[in-house]
Amino acid sequence: MAITDTLDTYSASALEPFEATLPLLPLKNVVILPKSIIPIIVGRDMSIRAVEHALKMDRLLFVTSQKDQDVESPTLNDVFTFGTKAIILQDPVRMPNGALKILVESIGRAKVEQIYESNNFLHALYVDVPSANADDSIKLHALWRQLRKTYLAYTKLDERAPANLIDNIQTPTEIDHVTDTIAVHSSLTFQERQSILETADLHERMLQLCTLIEKEVDILETEQRIRGRIQHQVEKGQREYYLQEQMKAIHKELGKEDQSAEIEELRAKAKKLKLPEDAFKQVEKELRRLEQMPPLSSEASVSRHYVDWILSLPWHTMTKDTISIKQAQHILDTHHAGLSKVKERIIEFLAAKKFSKTLDRSPVLCLAGPPGVGKTSLVKSISESMGREFVRISLGGVRDEAEIRGHRRTYIGALPGKIIQAMRKARSKNPVILLDEIDKMSRDAHGDPAAALLEVLDPEQNKTFTDHFLDVDYDLSKVMFIATANVIENIPYPLFDRLEIINISGYTESEKLAIARQFLIPRNLQEHSLNDAQFTISDELLKHIIDVYTKEAGVRQLERIITKLMRKTIQELLQDKKKKSVEITSELLLEWLGHSHFKKTSLNTKGHHIGVATGLAWTEIGGDVLEIETSILTGKGNVTLTGQLGDVMQESAHAAISYIRSRAKELDIKGSFHTNRDTHIHIPEGATPKDGPSAGITMCVALISALTKNPTRNDVTMTGEITLQGRVLAIGGLKEKLLAAKQYNFSTVIIPQENEDDLKDVRKEIDLGSLNIVLASTMEDVLAVAFKKNPLQKEVRNIKKVTRKKTTSKAPQ
Ligand code: ADP
Repeated sequence: MAITDTLDTYSASALEPFEATLPLLPLKNVVILPKSIIPIIVGRDMSIRAVEHALKMDRLLFVTSQKDQDVESPTLNDVFTFGTKAIILQDPVRMPNGALKILVESIGRAKVEQIYESNNFLHALYVDVPSANADDSIKLHALWRQLRKTYLAYTKLDERAPANLIDNIQTPTEIDHVTDTIAVHSSLTFQERQSILETADLHERMLQLCTLIEKEVDILETEQRIRGRIQHQVEKGQREYYLQEQMKAIHKELGKEDQSAEIEELRAKAKKLKLPEDAFKQVEKELRRLEQMPPLSSEASVSRHYVDWILSLPWHTMTKDTISIKQAQHILDTHHAGLSKVKERIIEFLAAKKFSKTLDRSPVLCLAGPPGVGKTSLVKSISESMGREFVRISLGGVRDEAEIRGHRRTYIGALPGKIIQAMRKARSKNPVILLDEIDKMSRDAHGDPAAALLEVLDPEQNKTFTDHFLDVDYDLSKVMFIATANVIENIPYPLFDRLEIINISGYTESEKLAIARQFLIPRNLQEHSLNDAQFTISDELLKHIIDVYTKEAGVRQLERIITKLMRKTIQELLQDKKKKSVEITSELLLEWLGHSHFKKTSLNTKGHHIGVATGLAWTEIGGDVLEIETSILTGKGNVTLTGQLGDVMQESAHAAISYIRSRAKELDIKGSFHTNRDTHIHIPEGATPKDGPSAGITMCVALISALTKNPTRNDVTMTGEITLQGRVLAIGGLKEKLLAAKQYNFSTVIIPQENEDDLKDVRKEIDLGSLNIVLASTMEDVLAVAFKKNPLQKEVRNIKKVTRKKTTSKAPQ
């Protein structure tokens, strides 16, 4: 409804003269207040006729509102008695539906007294109702001030209400008029507007209007507060949305567009993996940090690196154990020749694991032996027979605890330790992890790796293993750890205590030959896509290779040489298409392999053999022989030891000298030799350090030989510790030493009586053939065998000969 200010357009001439009767225009839903101009659509025929009549007369109408909007032909009771006298301002516009659009201006309050119909429209008999109390009183001005203030407040809240309406209003008439105009511009209800119309008393009207507007102000203020709050929330949401969009744009500029998607992907992956709570929290923390960082910053890559690690570990994945003893035996047999004792122990161990409920608390197996004897491949076979993943951790040279347990994330380039790295490789929570060369760990200022490893192996602690890098607990209790070592003595004691040692010693020549024939050659033929007709080699040549081209307890070098020969064969076959096969001959061997890098310990086999004795030594790669030379020179009783001898070996030499001095008489040696003779003991191949007490009896024999000019037997070798009293004490590494004696074709070996039980074990494992083994408990026993002629004057005591078979082997070449 268009309502405009009426004050300016008001025409005084239209006020006079008033008829007491005017055509009645009843309105629906509209109350017209004095001094307002309003367009009206006149639709009812009766009303159209009333308007047409008014137009013909002086354009005046009596306008009032209907009480009930649905009544079409109202009577006196159907209309409000209070209405206004109004004047039609322009010629009406006829609308297409026949209705008339008129613009009327209300002139003043009037009250209908009577209604009657004539000429088919209604007439109203009315009286004017002038405003009461519209005089210049204090109350009026006070009320006006109040109304003004209230309206001003209202205009601030409703911008449609014109504020200039109240400017320069002073006289009571102006106040009277503007009060009605204010009512027009305030959002009053139909009833409230009618009530204002009916209140002719200006004081009363102003008061009423004030109250109504104040109520409206209250409503508007509350509404504004609510709207403000809603808007704040909406704005906040909008702001966030806007910022996010902006961030996306910045990320895009920085090439970070894919980052958010990627982070979401990582988040989803973390959820899918069902990480333990701790790990999940850490990942979430890092992802949140990641979101804030530029993607190419170093911090971002640290966070990303960490999250990647956590997500790539197996937290729940397990392989199903398939321990079948029969199958395990089969797998061990198909991959390894011999080793029956070792296989038996492994099968026992697997059986116990299958049977026992406390599977994870059993001791950790440790396969001990020289390199190349198949420790690693045995562990692989164990994992295969259990259906578990296999991972190898090399502990050789590990000095720092952090290598086991990882570096803290704060270090640049930090990584988890070897254990967690192995778990990632394993991709399951229960792999077999091989702790290779557990005896080769050492310690330095950065903590003891053995202590960290102890925690890894302890079933009480390894459920909650903490890697410094991960910084969350990781459960290692389902992992099966198996260790390997070369030298048991070098394993740190606390670790040794947790291990169940299975010894694997070196192979004899015939064992090596069998392994080469049955395993190494067929396996490598297959790997090189050759068939057994294309590559042939005789047993003699294989033996020659073992003998001349390898120096090892295991078969690793042998395998390397076999593969080299196969590669050369392939080359040969490719170069000469007519050739269908290659048979390895000794000439080809020399051509392809050249001369051997390994020189056998050269032994003094010729000459008188005075002052020389051959001992047996144990090294990490197996047994070896050790030729000890001595010479006695005129001098002042100095003792010189050369050939890089360790402290213990030097002490053995002095013990031997003291023993000889104490037996000088029986040996027919001049008692003054230690004052007027210099003694020089030398062990050739001086670049190799040697130590240990087991060369004691050998040094003693060599010295006696030199002092008595009595030649030693060059087909005898020996090992044993000597005491001042001349007792012979036990030594270690018996099997390897006997293998070396066999390899160098000695006929007789003197070993300590105390090693008798070890000898029984060795006999079960290897075939010593015709090797004559003499058990000696004193030096007298040794001297009786080591010399061609016993240097002792006295009758030699009974010697217990373990092998009585007459030797056929020759002295070493
Ligand atoms: P280690 O771990 O003791 O140093 P490996 O397990 O690496 O030794 O063995 C070296 C090579 O020798 C492997 O190819 C292995 O298959 C082979 N090998 C060692 N012992 C045997 C054996 N008894 N039977 C068959 N192959 C063997």
